[in-house]
Amino acid sequence: MFDIIIIGGGIGGSASALRAAQNGMNTLWVLGSKKSRKRSRSQWVMNLDNIVGFHEDIIKNQAIKTLKKHKLDEAVSYLEKEHYHINNRMLIQNTIQRIENGFPNVTIKEGEVSHLEKEDYAFSIKIDDGLYNGNSVVLSMGVMDEQPHILKQNKKGEWEETPKWIYPFSNREQVLYCIRCEGHLTSKDSVAVIGHSNVSAELAMMLHERYNNKSYILTNGIQPEISEGRMKILEKYGVGIISDPITGILSEGVKQLHGFEFESHDSIEVKFGLISLGLHRVYNDLARQLNAQLMDQSHPEEKRHVWINHKGETSVTGLFAVGDMAKREDEPMMKQIYTAQEYAVRAVDTIDYRRRKRLREQ
Ligand SMILES: Cc1cc2nc3c(=O)[nH]c(=O)nc-3n(C[C@H](O)[C@H](O)[C@H](O)COP(=O)(O)OP(=O)(O)OC[C@H]3O[C@@H](n4cnc5c(N)ncnc54)[C@H](O)[C@@H]3O)c2cc1C
Repeated sequence: MFDIIIIGGGIGGSASALRAAQNGMNTLWVLGSKKSRKRSRSQWVMNLDNIVGFHEDIIKNQAIKTLKKHKLDEAVSYLEKEHYHINNRMLIQNTIQRIENGFPNVTIKEGEVSHLEKEDYAFSIKIDDGLYNGNSVVLSMGVMDEQPHILKQNKKGEWEETPKWIYPFSNREQVLYCIRCEGHLTSKDSVAVIGHSNVSAELAMMLHERYNNKSYILTNGIQPEISEGRMKILEKYGVGIISDPITGILSEGVKQLHGFEFESHDSIEVKFGLISLGLHRVYNDLARQLNAQLMDQSHPEEKRHVWINHKGETSVTGLFAVGDMAKREDEPMMKQIYTAQEYAVRAVDTIDYRRRKRLREQ
């Protein structure tokens, strides 16, 4: 019987696992599979620079000091020229390594959890190699963004409608998904917001107000659903709305995005894309198996966040949810690395408090 079972090997899962490890809890951490990682956001964040302390200079400056002390000037000049990205995969790999090397109280398993059950006070989960039991469960299985389907000619000249055309630019941080995380990269450049909703309008307005960007809204063939008031502001800010389907991407191979082409509208030049199409999936299947309460009633079930209280607990006692898949009623949507970490710490410390209380009572 584990004190805590953590499901998900992304940022919320890593933060939960490290906390549980450091709290001395008997922990099972299930990372997910190659397939579930590919479907999650944890794989696609290439360069983190919106978080205090996550910066290459912290270690680089110390390494330079050491090299200088030993008069290794040639090495210093190499180091000064390097740029060290910090990405999600590195954070997760580093957490796994730290836990494997220092915390025998944590068992780490690869695999997807397919079933979650609760009987009396205990939970049981099913992964490929069997069943495991725990007093409490933390879900951190994430979400997946909806991607724009672009009808574009492939190398053979055939028309193919797929989101794959934009992935190379997403991997180079030229097509972005999170204005709070990456908006600052666009400063004073031109941006195409791909979307058709009031949220897309808000993003274009924010880009203008924060960074003075020249921006467009590309609805990719869909009728815009933007309120009259927002339309007026967009006009005032000089935001162009193009409703034509996108039929081509102007670029230097897959290295640098230069703009978009359309069926009958003139092409536009932009340096960045910002996707604003909402969510494709919230991975809430296990929460649904226990009938945990979901948010956003008007949305289809597979797109609804899991309701949590201020401690990260769902409507099922002992079942917690953290990170992108969870939502509180009293907060706006929180979907960044630091919010996933904060949710994780609150949830795991609540579980630990209950565990220690039980110990004292015994
Ligand atoms: C392109 C992009 C750029 C971003 N940039 C930034 C940034 O610069 N700064 C920032 O703060 N935030 C950024 N974010 C947001 C950040 O990536 C997320 O907030 C964070 O990854 C959420 O962590 P999570 O644990 O909720 O989910 P994820 O990190 O997505 O992890 C979900 C995990 O659950 C696992 N899983 C799923 N199903 C199962 C199952 N059945 N069994 C077991 N495991 C399962 C998956 O394998 C995966 O490991 C960005 C997001 C995107 C899409």
